[in-house]
Amino acid sequence: MSGFVGSQVSNDERLANLEQVLFRPMGADGVRARTGLYERVLDGLTDFISTFRPEAAEVYRFPPVMSRSDIEKSGYLQSFPNLVGFMCCLAGSPAEIRRTANRIYEGEPWTEGLGVADLVLTPASCYPVYPIAAAKGAAPDQGWIFDVGCECFRREPSRDIDRMQSFRQREYVCIGSPETVCRFRDDWIVKAQSMAEQLQLPYSVDVANDPFFGAGGQFLAAGQREQKLKFELLIPILSHDKPTACMSFNYHKSHFGEAWDIHLARGGPAHTGCVGFGMDRMTIAMFAHHGLDLSAWPQPVLTLLGL
Ligand code: 5GP
Ligand code: ZN
Repeated sequence: MSGFVGSQVSNDERLANLEQVLFRPMGADGVRARTGLYERVLDGLTDFISTFRPEAAEVYRFPPVMSRSDIEKSGYLQSFPNLVGFMCCLAGSPAEIRRTANRIYEGEPWTEGLGVADLVLTPASCYPVYPIAAAKGAAPDQGWIFDVGCECFRREPSRDIDRMQSFRQREYVCIGSPETVCRFRDDWIVKAQSMAEQLQLPYSVDVANDPFFGAGGQFLAAGQREQKLKFELLIPILSHDKPTACMSFNYHKSHFGEAWDIHLARGGPAHTGCVGFGMDRMTIAMFAHHGLDLSAWPQPVLTLLGL
């Protein structure tokens, strides 16, 4: 498999066609209404991923918001403060709220009437699971597996079709001994490639790093790469030269175990790892490679997705 479907037109046109058929603009970069056609494929991919769910997995679907103190405790604000969407609402007495609301309609400055709420927009679908795991008590060596998902927000406005501020993630998360978590992650790197093959998508797997913020960020990113803590499965969407990370395979070592005081029954902090599926990116990749007309997709792919 090589070319994109639609590669007889210019690359800009090909991307514009994808955008036009799959989405409607919503007045902000990286925030899109998704069409029914797109959602059918996303639902098919969701069910396909569920067929890989380990039997013992606990399933949670999280809302698009989570507790601000939980995200503070997780350390996210140290690594990615620039990406977080903090929730704020009109604050004060009923009279003050009314005054601020009136200012909005009178064209007056009004945002000082906002107060920071106790919520943030969930930045990754595994963050809400660690406090749930912590409440379970000591983790067995063989670990716990969670199947989680939610709409995620990251403040990265962009017009690129593969970068959204609001996008859906699905993850399998493993919490247990270092050996269990490393095996989980290594197995998933293999399984994910077989998934991409079954979906008839071209892919590559590479070591990666998270976009850590600020001057110290490059240092953290280099350390993450050197220790091979993050891998990504990349699929060409924008171009073959700059393939897009559609799945990631992460080993957090004891970071969340220590942040949330999750211990192993045998002693020591639990280790954690996750495999993340970018549901929106995977869906766009399917249309980029198989075309916008479902009836022309390879039959085995349609069957796999229940389409
Ligand atoms: P990670 O936590 O590794 O950054 O993200 C996990 C997965 O979520 C990525 O592999 C990717 O598929 C998806 N993802 C991350 N950022 C974006 C984004 O800006 N837009 C979209 N559509 N998906 C994203
Ligand atoms: Zn995760």
